[in-house]
Amino acid sequence: MTHPFDTLWINARLVTCNNGYGIIDNAAIASKDQRIAWLGPMEQLPDQARALAPHIIDAKQRCITPGLIDCHTHLVFAGNRANEFARRLQGESYANIAASGGGIQSTVRATRELDETELLQQSLPRAKALMDSGARVLEIKSGYGLDLETECKMLRVAGRIGETLAIPVRRTFLGAHAVPPEYQGNADNYIRYICNELIPLVAREKLADSVDVFCEHIAFSLQQTREVFACAEQYQLAIKCHAEQLSNMGAAALAAEFGALSADHLEYIDEQGVTALASSGTVAVLLPGAYYFLRESKTPPVALLRKHQVPMAIASDCNPGTSPVTSLKLIMNMACVLFALTPEEAMLGVTLNAAKALGMEQSHGSLSVGKCADIVLWDVNHPDELSYTVG
Ligand SMILES: [Zn+2]
Repeated sequence: MTHPFDTLWINARLVTCNNGYGIIDNAAIASKDQRIAWLGPMEQLPDQARALAPHIIDAKQRCITPGLIDCHTHLVFAGNRANEFARRLQGESYANIAASGGGIQSTVRATRELDETELLQQSLPRAKALMDSGARVLEIKSGYGLDLETECKMLRVAGRIGETLAIPVRRTFLGAHAVPPEYQGNADNYIRYICNELIPLVAREKLADSVDVFCEHIAFSLQQTREVFACAEQYQLAIKCHAEQLSNMGAAALAAEFGALSADHLEYIDEQGVTALASSGTVAVLLPGAYYFLRESKTPPVALLRKHQVPMAIASDCNPGTSPVTSLKLIMNMACVLFALTPEEAMLGVTLNAAKALGMEQSHGSLSVGKCADIVLWDVNHPDELSYTVG
């Protein structure tokens, strides 16, 4: 007997993420060739369940959501910075820790030292932990190599994580994360190296989908960010930006000018920046893990983002220095408690809007016929529960 579908989930509460939660109660959803082939209320099923699919799963009125998407991570790195964490808690300043060889440069040293297999072994558990919290798509950035060899190694490891776990991984080249020791005091020359050598190589070898820059007074200027974006555009790579995390540099408006997929962090964005994002359709990616871990006090202007209807995504920002977080569910809770998102906004932040932040909304981020059947059956009866429980 041939069935029209491969797998059919019945008696489910579907959280489609179309128009808010988009809940369909007492519903079914079917997959065929790993695509969503049908969804709707049980009473509209075209035939007896047994005639429709060889595999039937009874959801018992629990929630089915799209697979979650972590659209901003730095999860490929070596070592950890627990030692610095302890020093910081004892009152030592970040500047002091950095001056004694700590901070991002300590992660750069550790990441340069490992070979590709060792780096994969250290990074893979973090990706698995994110998957355990419901993630089915990951974005992974480079940026702890800051030289040609290590940046490429990180991006290859990110690709291998996707192959090993059989999930889509979007890779972002973040060479402009910090000025490497070889270029201290000479950031302009490092930007030239990125534009003349690294981006052309990354594009040629298809090692990344996007290019990102940390635009901040402790990293790269607006003009240097513009040069990297112009180069990325020339090589037809998508653009993302670490923007207005510690001060208002105008980076979000610059990202919008280049039609960036997303501008990320945004604690210090002003209304001009918000309207720029709105007009370009750039997603605001909020990162409550870093805000929490750094004990920051300035929250992103969520009311302004709502007012101008800028799509908001949230992400783990998983990284060793400022957000050692490997749970998207924890991030959903933090987004609600710390940034006052509604649980519904938090849900859209790790589904449809996260898909937009990666340029994947045609295939991911909501339960819609034709999209990837990348779905999660949760042991909860209402989607608010996903943000309510802590981690
Ligand atoms: Zn980041």
